[in-house]
Amino acid sequence: MLDFTLTPEQIQLQEKARQFAMEEILPVAWYYDKIDETPIPILRKAFDAGIMNNDIPKKYGGQGLGLVEAALITEEIAAACSGLATSIFDSSLGMEPILISNNEDAKKRYLPKIANDFKLTSFATSEPTMGSDVAGIRCKAVPDGDDYLLTGTKYWITNGGVADYVAVFATVDPKSQHAGICCFLVETEWEGVTIGRIIPKMGQRCSNTVGINLKNVRVPKENILAPPGEGFILAMKTFARTRPIIGSFGVGAARAALEFALDYAKKRKTFGMSIKDYQAIQFKLAEMYQKVETARLLTWKSAWESDQGEDATISASIAKFYATESAQEVVDQALQIFGGFGYTKMFPIEKLYRDVRLLRIYEGTSEVQRIIVAGHLLSNYQSTMPPLEDLPLHREFDPLDKNAAQAGQKIWRCRICGHVHYGDEAPDECPYCFFPKSAFKEAAVA
Ligand SMILES: Cc1cc2nc3c(=O)[nH]c(=O)nc-3n(C[C@H](O)[C@H](O)[C@H](O)COP(=O)(O)OP(=O)(O)OC[C@H]3O[C@@H](n4cnc5c(N)ncnc54)[C@H](O)[C@@H]3O)c2cc1C
Repeated sequence: MLDFTLTPEQIQLQEKARQFAMEEILPVAWYYDKIDETPIPILRKAFDAGIMNNDIPKKYGGQGLGLVEAALITEEIAAACSGLATSIFDSSLGMEPILISNNEDAKKRYLPKIANDFKLTSFATSEPTMGSDVAGIRCKAVPDGDDYLLTGTKYWITNGGVADYVAVFATVDPKSQHAGICCFLVETEWEGVTIGRIIPKMGQRCSNTVGINLKNVRVPKENILAPPGEGFILAMKTFARTRPIIGSFGVGAARAALEFALDYAKKRKTFGMSIKDYQAIQFKLAEMYQKVETARLLTWKSAWESDQGEDATISASIAKFYATESAQEVVDQALQIFGGFGYTKMFPIEKLYRDVRLLRIYEGTSEVQRIIVAGHLLSNYQSTMPPLEDLPLHREFDPLDKNAAQAGQKIWRCRICGHVHYGDEAPDECPYCFFPKSAFKEAAVA
């Protein structure tokens, strides 16, 4: 069964998120971008409106919604401001390691507070000296009785300056790479936690991004989300659930750019004509729309896979790098359609251009997504086509013709140039590439 129909509840949620985005976010988006500040009252309103942390299960006091719903909400919020979408969504990113950990006690203690008390969470793998290479974490976790003492600096932490809780990934031994990585739920009020200054950014300026320094921060054993050796997997499982949503950021931002460009194209005239009537502009608009639609399908598919309980690692990577790169292309085309005005701060494209640039970097760069997908192709992907040397590629005769001269003969295929030879023996030398007999592999009987 394949069905793209949204349920009445999903449509309602989408409409609620759209209304929130238009009424609460769009009017303030450029102001908060300018002042480089996270509008906590708007996060609070998003929380009260029920469009934050929707995937906390009902048994922990949450709404128990899925990633498809998160994708629907995020597209709407990101269309209005991807910086605010990052702030709103980041609480889900920070909450996810708790949700998918095996620590039932931590789930019972923290998830109801996140679901009901407007407690914000952050996610911290990155450090000043590493981002892509998660196994290269240096933040030290030193066992002390049943507790751990954490020392190190986590960097680029979204919402780090406003969060109550942070999922901190650390290592018991930096040399042991993956085997040493563990994860802890740290409360930002705890002794030894220091929040750094807001990192000045190019775009998504209303999302709070800071470094967090930890000096001998004591974490009780109850707050271990992943023991040593299990932290890396926990981080990867988290990304498999959050990367589709980064795809939705791309879809939302690209859709907004398309709609602005469509509007502008109808209003702008050159050489006595509306620019919408030039095929060059129409083709741009058509391709922009194609990218928005394709990106949405990929993100929905990946979110859906996750909601079915499947491992969505590969589809999440594909959705992330396609949707975020195509968003960049769509915004760039929109800017071109706006001409000089697209390059000014008087129109919305300039901010979109800066905001979407981040999507190809955080939660795993585009390069990292390609590494994941290529790794899957080279090690796990199941081909349906036969190996090239066994391919029944007969040009010389109809293999169904039992009276053909080659019928019933052995087939020898040159592994270098693909030449097919019929006969009891392979030729001494390939007549095309001149490789010796050893280059031939017996394929099958014709
Ligand atoms: C605004 C912002 C918010 C962020 N929020 C968070 C957050 O909340 N929590 C968190 O933990 N992190 C966060 N990050 C960090 C983000 O995840 C990292 O910046 C990202 O993973 C890239 O790491 P890096 O910056 O260290 O780049 P590096 O890992 O140093 O990479 C530099 C370049 O080399 C490329 N590269 C690296 N390795 C390879 C390879 N093997 N093959 C090919 N190319 C490679 C990368 O793709 C990149 O282009 C945030 C970053 C930003 C900018």
